[in-house]
Amino acid sequence: MKNGSFRKSAGLAFGILGVLAVLSFVSAGRDVPLLLAKLSWSTVVAFLGFRIYRDGVISRYRAILFILTAFLFFLEFKFFRFISFGNTPSAPYCHIAEASTLSNFVHSQVLAIKSGDWRVWGVLTMGFLWLLIIFTIGQGICSWVCFFGGIDEGFSKIAKRPILKFKAPGRWRDLPIAFLIFILVVTFLQGLPVFCSWFCPFKMTEAFWAADPVTRKAQAVLFWSILAGAVIIIPILTGKRIFCSFICPFGALVSISGKASPYAVTIDKEKCSRCGKCMEVCPSLAVETTASGEYKTTNFCTRCSKCIDICPSDAISIFSGPSGARIDTRDIFIFLSLLVAGALSGSFVPNVFLRLAGLR
Ligand code: SF4
Ligand code: SF4
Repeated sequence: MKNGSFRKSAGLAFGILGVLAVLSFVSAGRDVPLLLAKLSWSTVVAFLGFRIYRDGVISRYRAILFILTAFLFFLEFKFFRFISFGNTPSAPYCHIAEASTLSNFVHSQVLAIKSGDWRVWGVLTMGFLWLLIIFTIGQGICSWVCFFGGIDEGFSKIAKRPILKFKAPGRWRDLPIAFLIFILVVTFLQGLPVFCSWFCPFKMTEAFWAADPVTRKAQAVLFWSILAGAVIIIPILTGKRIFCSFICPFGALVSISGKASPYAVTIDKEKCSRCGKCMEVCPSLAVETTASGEYKTTNFCTRCSKCIDICPSDAISIFSGPSGARIDTRDIFIFLSLLVAGALSGSFVPNVFLRLAGLR
């Protein structure tokens, strides 16, 4: 991506800050410390946006925001709330749980809408917010917004170079879709959130631990194995986001529904010199080669933009529009992604600032 002029970069950054500032005023109300914390965080997001546009490097600043948000999310929901409540009785709305309990979720939406109380409906329909995001930045949610994905990405960045080479997974790359179907079927049959109870390595709430000690031990074995293997150790060794790429039901769902997003990362085969660097750096194993040796991105692309930054031929971009009439929409995509990331993280990061400052 070419460096942007100072004027253009500053203009776009101020645009991001302006929208986030309005949201901050609306959501903070008369709570002045909270408003100041929200405005401070909005400034951080806008500054990172400025650096992206000005330096022409997307992934570095995106990753800073993404990983920092994930770290602060855990600080708020696992540390501060744990201290306040003893455990986490009020877990945030979890999009991974939503994906893995889709049928139950649809049912709850119907009940919420039928209740006629917009406040109840509003809380329960956080899911519609995620759907709205999917229809705008699509799979970009997995590399710009998801506070769980930031943990996986953080560990995948610890080693400067991969210690183990991860071979192109071929047809195994579709494994998460099969796993999602399995989870949905079992959840539907059992009427229980099976993924949350057995597979989730983040466990934002204590509610899913079984009371029976033997079952609880079995849950703990799976929990620690997935956390250690898929979120920490293999990402460190390979530089790939293993939990996000192979286990996360939300990632699998968004790889299908994200097709509705107008944005896609595409490789211009005329410009591509077939160096293979995009495939090497892609943390989501979302680049593959065709039978004729051409490189192409797949539905599992999370729009992290690492390949865009590294491509020596400037062959990769974020496009939208029907094929044939495609336009380069990188600037708009980045703008929207930062807005969504800033708005969602703005609902919990300022609280962390206030708690650290002793004001909460
Ligand atoms: S990094 Fe660029 S030039 Fe190299 S294979 Fe990928 S798209 Fe082609
Ligand atoms: S294809 Fe490029 S933008 Fe998509 S996930 Fe891989 S590195 Fe990121």
